[in-house]
Amino acid sequence: MAQHFWLHSKSVSLTGANIANFSDEEARYFLARMRWGDDGTQVCPKCGVVDRHHDIKSRCQWSCKHCGRRFSVTTGTPFADFKIGYPRLLLAIFAFVVNQKGIAALALRRLIGGQYRTSYTLLQKIREAVMLTMPREPLSGVVEVDGGHFAGKRRKGRKLKEEKGPAEIPMKYRKPQHRTKVSNSAFPHHPNRRIVLVLREVFPAGAGKGAARTRVAVIRNENTADIEALVKRYVAKRSTIRSDELPAYGNLKLLGYFHESVNHSVEFSTDDGVNQNQAESYFSRLRRAFIGVYHKITPRYMLDYASEMAWREDVRRRDTLTQMGLLFRRVCESGLSTDWLNYCRGNKRLSELLFVAEAASA
Ligand SMILES: [Zn+2]
Repeated sequence: MAQHFWLHSKSVSLTGANIANFSDEEARYFLARMRWGDDGTQVCPKCGVVDRHHDIKSRCQWSCKHCGRRFSVTTGTPFADFKIGYPRLLLAIFAFVVNQKGIAALALRRLIGGQYRTSYTLLQKIREAVMLTMPREPLSGVVEVDGGHFAGKRRKGRKLKEEKGPAEIPMKYRKPQHRTKVSNSAFPHHPNRRIVLVLREVFPAGAGKGAARTRVAVIRNENTADIEALVKRYVAKRSTIRSDELPAYGNLKLLGYFHESVNHSVEFSTDDGVNQNQAESYFSRLRRAFIGVYHKITPRYMLDYASEMAWREDVRRRDTLTQMGLLFRRVCESGLSTDWLNYCRGNKRLSELLFVAEAASA
């Protein structure tokens, strides 16, 4: 049997020990190479000219040869206002990449030091950038579509306590009974429950293992309008959609797609090999991150976490250095953060990013 990718020496192209030995200057050039490539040129954020601009080493900046604008390797990116130094920023990106089920802000803080809120906003800005730069070009070939329920978990034993004790003692001073378990079906809809809908393009036979590209969205429930709008947005016509047998997927043939379904209450894979293993693989990673790392995720930031895990799935077989480069370029592309800029001064996202079909088509 072939060796697993992550056991291969090529997969570990950079280690934390390498980064720990970086000077400020080395870390700065390392980030510059990840952002602008290996040829020693930089892109001026003001006039956009690509050149070997004047290097002002004492200020860790470049000065544009054409317009004179001074800029650093993080100018115009969500990292612009971080004052933690380039070696620690590099270490934070490294830690984000190598913790494949996500990394908690408290754990990152133990690695890079500083205040908790620095680590927290740094991670949130990376997630936001990944979410904002999710590619829009359509998936094609065989695409698995599935929804997973997240957040809003009901506590077990949620039956209201029945007070015990003599009737002459007022109710609020009586001892509560043990709470009795009530089945989940008694409370089907918790207000915080959301569906993460995932669309994953499966590699054609021989081209690779598993899924190639992933798109995600957060919806209120698996309804026809939202699912059809998302399929139209993210999947090219005449592709094959694989889903379960929910009625919401029933009309996809009318929209110009081929449709294969698998009845999960009977089998996980049909005799013809129709299954949703790649969608399940994504949910597995997201669920483990929810349970094992982040513990609680609210609807307001659910799309950020879902996008983070989609990115992790898509780069799962790239070596560490490549992953860091891909991530840093995505973060640079996203521009200045909107929801996390000045977070410490009270700025924050005001509502959740829920996909609604009518709003999307309007
Ligand atoms: Zn310029």
